[in-house]
Amino acid sequence: MIITDVQTYVLSLDFKFKLGAMIPFKATGLYINIKTDEDIEGWALAHWNLSNAAQKVFIDEALRRFLLNKDPFMVEDIYHTLYHNTNRVTFGIMQSTSAIEVALWDIIGKASKKPIYRLLGGMKNKIRAYASMPRGYKPKAAVGAVQSALDLGGFTGVKLRIGGRGGKPEKIIEEVRDAFPDLYLMVDANSTYLTVTDALEIAKVCAKNHLTWLEEPMPSDNLNGLARLRNKSPIEIAGGENDFGIFRFEDILTKGCYDIIQPDVTRSGGFLQCKKIDAMAEVKGVRCIPHIFGFGHILAANLHFVLSTRCDWLEFPFIPEEYQILEDPIKVEKGIVKAIEKPGIGVEINKKMFEEHVLN
Ligand SMILES: [Mg+2]
Repeated sequence: MIITDVQTYVLSLDFKFKLGAMIPFKATGLYINIKTDEDIEGWALAHWNLSNAAQKVFIDEALRRFLLNKDPFMVEDIYHTLYHNTNRVTFGIMQSTSAIEVALWDIIGKASKKPIYRLLGGMKNKIRAYASMPRGYKPKAAVGAVQSALDLGGFTGVKLRIGGRGGKPEKIIEEVRDAFPDLYLMVDANSTYLTVTDALEIAKVCAKNHLTWLEEPMPSDNLNGLARLRNKSPIEIAGGENDFGIFRFEDILTKGCYDIIQPDVTRSGGFLQCKKIDAMAEVKGVRCIPHIFGFGHILAANLHFVLSTRCDWLEFPFIPEEYQILEDPIKVEKGIVKAIEKPGIGVEINKKMFEEHVLN
């Protein structure tokens, strides 16, 4: 089998739903479609990002040529060709490379008639999920939004976002904890705090309220600051969604920045890089729970990874299922997500939504 064509599509759509006082927002995604001479196609979605339009040009003009006429089963060879023929470290480029790697696995799975998680070495066929809430809630609205997550999906864990425009983080944490004393509760600060002192203060609030982890308290490039914070923190520190590749994660793990690393298959280098990163974390006694946020192809790819590893939580973007842009949205029932057993990535794009929102 050889690759005969590579196409890219930028999608843009307004999220028109409201959960409590959540602010409306626009989401974009870069879909990659790889065709072969055996009529098997691979689909993947690069992580949403302001650079999606630039990534499209980059794939079309620079990466496509390295894929044509290659055997899609030679994933490691293709990954290293892309990696070494680019400048290796620019994040938008790694997101494109990650999505190409995922689309290759979609082809391999379809050709082998197996779901990706089984080809990677299955470890389980279901996983508990936590609801990952969008940003922008005030405390009262956060309580209402968490209640709707529990009602709709039976989640046993919920992650809130704090900092930025989110108002008083202590109030949000305390009100939600008071309302739901038994819930696994996490918070994500999305790099809000610029000093160890400020981050430590919120870490103490998290510990006092029995949270499960504090995510990305400081900018992800501040490895020394994060390591100092983790040393002092009374609660587990998670992070790594903005990092990619084995070399960067070696730095992160050696410095001891996190208790939980969060590579994302669609950002951090694809399935095989993430499997290696997970193995590096395992030998250091560090947990690996991937970052997942975006349309359904991002969730599906990371679900396959989670089911082939020791990971014990699935981040589940809590958005109405139509925004997965899938023919059959991935469901969470009683807080559990089951394996996708169809070949490859195992999900199909909702063609109607795709055609309505594609920009090119
Ligand atoms: Mg995060």
